[in-house]
Amino acid sequence: MGDPFDPEFTKLLVCPKCKEPVELRQDLSGFFCRNCKLLFKVEGNIPNFIIEQAHRWEEPHGNG
Ligand SMILES: [Zn+2]
Repeated sequence: MGDPFDPEFTKLLVCPKCKEPVELRQDLSGFFCRNCKLLFKVEGNIPNFIIEQAHRWEEPHGNG
């Protein structure tokens, strides 16, 4: 068993909000949309692409 996500499959995944490609996080915890700064969590190897349940991801240098 390798990665739970096939690279050919994840390449096809896009943000449901802006339709831009999403990035699989290195720890496989979710898919991130740079455009919307939304993290779509992976739950039980199933990506949750429900916008209302996505987590807003703020840049570390946001509140200087
Ligand atoms: Zn997006």
